[in-house]
Amino acid sequence: MSVIDKAMEANSTYARNYDPSQGGPPAPKIVVVTCMDPRLSDLPAILGLPRADIDVIRTGGPAVTEDVLAEIVVSTRVLGSKEILLLNHTGCGFTTFTDAELNARLSASAGDASPAPMRFFSYKDPELNTREQIEKIRSHPWIAKDVPVRGVIFDVATGRLREVK
Ligand SMILES: [Zn+2]
Repeated sequence: MSVIDKAMEANSTYARNYDPSQGGPPAPKIVVVTCMDPRLSDLPAILGLPRADIDVIRTGGPAVTEDVLAEIVVSTRVLGSKEILLLNHTGCGFTTFTDAELNARLSASAGDASPAPMRFFSYKDPELNTREQIEKIRSHPWIAKDVPVRGVIFDVATGRLREVK
């Protein structure tokens, strides 16, 4: 049985206990930009915040791309999020290759070099990466200057967050 088939089956149990009041419009208080890494999936527990308060944008790294900026704009300007948190982490898969290496590996293993090189937004240093992503958010004119943008690094060995100053 595939993972998706198992998930579809489990969903019928989930739906039986579902709170229908959640069907109203979303009202997030914070937007969290974080990595796709599964260890970061339990944000309500990691941050001690109600699920309904967190808009989550996930991309490898995390990398603040044009799409991510658009989602942050919607979360803060349309949906009402009041703060932005960039949540990076140790042990990220995106530090284990460079964009050039991975593009070369994929061209070779697929035997097809015709696609344009992909931007994977690989990086080496989580602290430096966090500062660079914060800068991308902070410098966008459509993200209001009175909305705080802060960055933290989640340590996958301890579960602790450390703020990047
Ligand atoms: Zn990661």
